This record gives sequence, C-alpha cells and structure tokens, in this order.
Amino acid sequence: MSTVRTATRAPVLAVFASIQGEGAFVGEPQVFVRLEGCPLRCRWCDTPASWVPTSSPEEPAAVAARVAALEGARPRTVSITGGEPLMHPEFVRELARELAPRRVHLETAAAHPRALGRVLDVVAHVSLDLKLPADLDEPVELSPDSDESGSQGGHEPSPRDAVSWRAARRDVLAQVRGRDACGKLVLAGGRTPVDFAVVLDDVVELAPKLPLIVQPVTPMHGVAAPSADELHALVEDVRARDLLVRVLPQVHRALRLP
Ligand code: SF4
Repeated sequence: MSTVRTATRAPVLAVFASIQGEGAFVGEPQVFVRLEGCPLRCRWCDTPASWVPTSSPEEPAAVAARVAALEGARPRTVSITGGEPLMHPEFVRELARELAPRRVHLETAAAHPRALGRVLDVVAHVSLDLKLPADLDEPVELSPDSDESGSQGGHEPSPRDAVSWRAARRDVLAQVRGRDACGKLVLAGGRTPVDFAVVLDDVVELAPKLPLIVQPVTPMHGVAAPSADELHALVEDVRARDLLVRVLPQVHRALRLP
C-alpha cells in the first residue's frame, strides 16, 4: 500500500541569528525564520523581497536543523516571521513541533484569522501588527502554487477594505485574548489618534490586557517618521483608554542588525 505524504513545505527567505528588534521581546537573542509570501502591501514594508515566493520550498525538519546550527551553545527562542507566516500555517505547525522545546514566537499581520487558529496552540507568543487599512495598498493574493502546506493557508482571502480589515482584526483579537501576545501599532508621519480609534476600540472590547507597542515607522519609500507631537498624541490616547502602551523604535535598524 502506498503512503500518501502530506506536504508541509514552505519557501524560506532566510534563517539567521540576531537580536529581536521589535515587540515585547526586544533585545532578546533569537533565531529568525523568515518565510516568503505576503499578499499585503504595507507602504512602509521593509522586506518587500519576501512578498513573492521565489525559493524552493523546504521541509520543516530541514529548517529546524538550520536553526540548531545557528543558535550557539544553548537553544534560542525562534521567531517565525515573513513575509506573512500565516500563508503557511501547516508548515508553521510542523516547524514548531520540530523546534520543541524551544519557545516559538509568531510575527504576523493579523489579517488571516482562520490560519492563526491553526497555529495558536503551538506558538508561545504572538506579535500582531494592528494595521491601518489606510497604510496599505491593494493586496496581491499569492498564486495557489505557492502554498505547499496543503492547508489552503494561502487561499484565505486578505482584507481589502476597512470593513474586512475590522472583521479580521476582531477575530484575531478574540483569539489572542488571555494569551501571551502583544499588538504593534506602526505610526507613520501624519497619522493622528483619530486614525487609530477603531483599532483601539476593538482592543478595549476584545483584548483589553493586550500590551500595545507604538512603533514609529522607520522612514522609507516616501513614508515619513512621526513627529514627537504625533507620537505623544497617540500614546496619550492609548493611555486614556486604560490600555498598556510602550514606545519602541525598530532597535535592530538602529543597531544595523538584520
Ligand atoms: S505584512 Fe509585513 S511583509 Fe507584508 S507588506 Fe506588510 S510589512 Fe511587508
């Protein structure tokens, strides 16, 4: 009798050891697994090379071996990032199993709740980008051929407008409520608390204990950094809602690390 093999491979842009530069674990030495494939188009994206998969898909066990070779004397926390890792949820599940007992963190755009539901039980921490639809251009869905996980993860439609973004965000926030997670608010120049009002309303209602990290955008592609006044205005608005807030720039950029 022949055995049918379930494909869980995914294209990997890079596996590297570095210092976490964003989110709740900033400063921690980690190993990063950067997957290829992202249908979103954030105007300030710093990894556009990850958007379209071009590498040959790899098996989770092979990627775990690459992690082990990089982490040094003791196991490190592993951050699975992208791209959008939720394009490959079955791969993420398998990779987390291969990496046990290491802590596995997931960095996601919080746009694909069905795929998030497939991986939540295997990751120790989730870092959600709580995006403003106004900061994104039209999504470009991945070709079905680029999802080798067998999960249809790449076929969960991406949000396209404020209504579908809100539905995805509310689903994701409800899923992470009470879990080890943080939310990132990337603040570009010209944005005001009014722009974030709906996002913050959703956090207050659905995940009021979620720590929020305001991340001033690193200027690129014509997107400017926020002024000090814009930064203070958002921070005060978050505080006024009794939410937890910290401000952190992209530390790995300041340190010129990958
Ligand atoms: S979700 Fe991440 S990888 Fe995708 S466009 Fe936005 S910043 Fe870039």
